[in-house]
Amino acid sequence: MKEFKQNDKIELKVGGTITVKLKLGEGGQGIVYLVEMNGKQYALKWYTHDCTKDFYDNLDNNIKNGAPTESFLWPQFLTVWKEKRFGYIMALRPDEYKDFSHFLLAKVRFASLSAMINAALQISNAFRELHRKGYSYQDLNDGNFFIHPTSGEVLICDNDNVAPYGKNLGIAGKCRYMAPEVVLGKTKPNADTDRFSLSVILFMLLFNNHPLEGKLIAAVPCMTEENERRFYGSTPIFIFDPTNDTNRPVMGVHTNAIRRWPIFPQFVKDAFIHAFGSDGIDEPHKRKPENEWQKLFVKLRDQTVKCSCGNETFINPDAADSRCLNCNKSLGKPLQLSVGRSKVILWPGQKTYACHTKSASDHYREISGEIIQNKNNPSLWGLRNLSTDTWIATMPDNTQRNIKSTEVVPILKGVSVMFASGVKGEILE
Ligand SMILES: [Zn+2]
Repeated sequence: MKEFKQNDKIELKVGGTITVKLKLGEGGQGIVYLVEMNGKQYALKWYTHDCTKDFYDNLDNNIKNGAPTESFLWPQFLTVWKEKRFGYIMALRPDEYKDFSHFLLAKVRFASLSAMINAALQISNAFRELHRKGYSYQDLNDGNFFIHPTSGEVLICDNDNVAPYGKNLGIAGKCRYMAPEVVLGKTKPNADTDRFSLSVILFMLLFNNHPLEGKLIAAVPCMTEENERRFYGSTPIFIFDPTNDTNRPVMGVHTNAIRRWPIFPQFVKDAFIHAFGSDGIDEPHKRKPENEWQKLFVKLRDQTVKCSCGNETFINPDAADSRCLNCNKSLGKPLQLSVGRSKVILWPGQKTYACHTKSASDHYREISGEIIQNKNNPSLWGLRNLSTDTWIATMPDNTQRNIKSTEVVPILKGVSVMFASGVKGEILE
């Protein structure tokens, strides 16, 4: 087909036109252009193959329903459907967001553990909200994500195949990310198969290698269709399966996984052992729902602190001592805030969120407090109230103090804090 030229006008379904400015890129499905509408710039994805009216109507419906979270670069407007061709408009992706596949190739690295955990949280939450809206994504793979290396903020693109449950637009997904039952042709993509793909993405985000690619795959000279069915479909074996060591990662090939696996807390490893063990592989309904992944990464964030060497490290709240992953310094057993099921390590810079301090909230992004050090005496630490609520602190001598917004609870063993009705935290050793 002919490509659009600068200043070509394209009609929108809702009326009005957009003006083509520049070709930005080209993929298997279409061409992406920089376009202008009412003086504002957007990206236009234009399909270069024939599209069905069903596909068009599905996108139209998704636009009407709106994006599940702000992480999605969601379609905003459709062009007019003409001779089986059309395009849709979305927000432009800022340059600071880098392709997830570049992280996997180590062309880009996360600035910190916190940034990586934030990315995992955002991806888990985005798919939770997507599924809550009754959609499945159907084509989850490493090409869908753009991540800010410093903040861990995520943008999810290629949302064209998102469809309500039970509806399939003919896409099966990308082999290394598909659930085994999709690889084997037993089912079409759905929310359970999305969950499998999500666990693959999360594993790769943390460990930088594929969970099913170990020495079995390294040993085959070429990836035939038959091999793909075997390794990703009929007999996938997790590279860290505790009961089956036939597919362990290979040094020099899967070095990232070998180096990173030991540094993560056991509860993180257990989640992946479950995801890629017999439960996660053979029983799709037993796969961890997205809100469980979200809780898991909140827990990991609660245990992540910055060592005096400048690097971040994990603290085991139940261990007598934890050592820095970078400089190996002993960090002892810091005090912790026990609230609900959470144990937030109390350490300068650490934050609490609405999911810790508000009643019935699982909001993981809304900061409610921060651990600060006294300027004149850095050995005195406190929890600053960054919420709009007034907290009630009970001191070890049983006196009570109101802690209004911006005020500080001293961090001392035995202090308890009533954050909200039914939400009481205690500072413990
Ligand atoms: Zn250190």
